[in-house]
Amino acid sequence: MNLTFQGAAGGVTGSMHRLEADGKHFLLDCGMFQGRRKEAERLNRHFPFPGSSIEAVVLSHAHIDHSGRLPLLYKEGFRGPIYTTPATIDLCGAMLRDTAHILEGDAEFVNRKHPNDPPVEPLFTLEDAANTVELFRPVAYRTPTNIGTNVVGANLVMESYDAGHILGSSSIVLTDGKVRLAFSGDVGRPGLPIIRDPEPLPPCDYLIMESTYGGRKHPRTSDAINTLEEVVTRTIARGGRLIVPAFAVGRTQQLVLLLHQLMNQNRLPAVPIFVDSPLAVDVTGVFRAHPECFDDEVNQYLHGGEDPFGFKRLTYIRDVNESKKLNDRKGPFVVISASGMCEAGRILHHLRNSIGDSRNTVLLTGYQAENTLGRKLRDGWKSVRIFGIPEQVEAEVASLDELSAHADSEELLEWMKPITPQLKKVFLVHGEPAQAAALADAIQGLYGIQAIPAAPGMNCELSG
Ligand SMILES: [Zn+2]
Repeated sequence: MNLTFQGAAGGVTGSMHRLEADGKHFLLDCGMFQGRRKEAERLNRHFPFPGSSIEAVVLSHAHIDHSGRLPLLYKEGFRGPIYTTPATIDLCGAMLRDTAHILEGDAEFVNRKHPNDPPVEPLFTLEDAANTVELFRPVAYRTPTNIGTNVVGANLVMESYDAGHILGSSSIVLTDGKVRLAFSGDVGRPGLPIIRDPEPLPPCDYLIMESTYGGRKHPRTSDAINTLEEVVTRTIARGGRLIVPAFAVGRTQQLVLLLHQLMNQNRLPAVPIFVDSPLAVDVTGVFRAHPECFDDEVNQYLHGGEDPFGFKRLTYIRDVNESKKLNDRKGPFVVISASGMCEAGRILHHLRNSIGDSRNTVLLTGYQAENTLGRKLRDGWKSVRIFGIPEQVEAEVASLDELSAHADSEELLEWMKPITPQLKKVFLVHGEPAQAAALADAIQGLYGIQAIPAAPGMNCELSG
């Protein structure tokens, strides 16, 4: 086997690794680069290989930085199968269409603004996204599946395990009969609401592992509900609004479940709660369709006849006019809206309307990549640009790091333990350089195994 790192190498976004086995080329993930607009745009536009040269894709999970360039791969000639879990397929159906919709809208806006320039083409269209979804092939967890061509000697077998990161997320083991390679995808954490804990992988020869929080320690997941209670309570006591930027997939549903639990326990004042994101509404529907991915806690709700993702004070908003009405709403309320890093979407309107008032709170609920508006708020900037206009930050900015969907350094080291008995080398991806370097040192120190932060374009021969 031969491996080339073509994304999420030296950074977090754009996850994509090319694997050659018996002369055939496969991709592990095909994600979008995010961050500085111009640079991301340049990186996203072109693949360093023809789309038609790829035999098949194995997708770890639905997040756009792992799946977002699949429609572009289709556009560039790829027609092979995309193997992933049934829940990931349904999530991608909603998310790739949503991304195409945003890309088409952005291109239309630019073309309208600059009518005399050559027209800008969206990265991909709704049609490309719909055609891509047709290529998905469901593979259940722990079901060995041959994804190579069936020519003798050209077999490549994959087996996926629950990564405990988002609904349907997987870590994958691939073998050509000589070498066993593990790909972590994004590794979750024990105790996250709704989904199951990460499953152990079998021993392997090589490991490609994420390192998002390779040098950090998170607060315990079990404290999330208390932190959320405190933030909601003090914001309401000031008569303020709580604005919660949240990823439409996973984080929104977890927040809804925690708020539901707080309501059931009479720990929250009676304020209205809104989920303002058409994507989150669609994705919550996908969650309801995949109870096979739930943990015991959610199953108990279901057995008790309760809807874990709905309750009396909660309103889901799809319609844009209903969303705008929130701007003029008086009195305290909670609104959960996308995107989670405050880069796009309805959250920007809510921030613009609320960020200048010290009674309000902005509650960040997940990873904030470099150069995003969410990162600036987290870093304590006193003035930020929203829609190009400078806004004073008067609102409280709080964080709910307890819900991080990524394992911290200790959890990553623990997760990789069952893989280590015959492990020769670890390639660290999906982390800013300082995080990857810290994890490399920790792996060397604890297991005595060489760990290398992957560089963009780095190529490695994997021998048995
Ligand atoms: Zn992810």
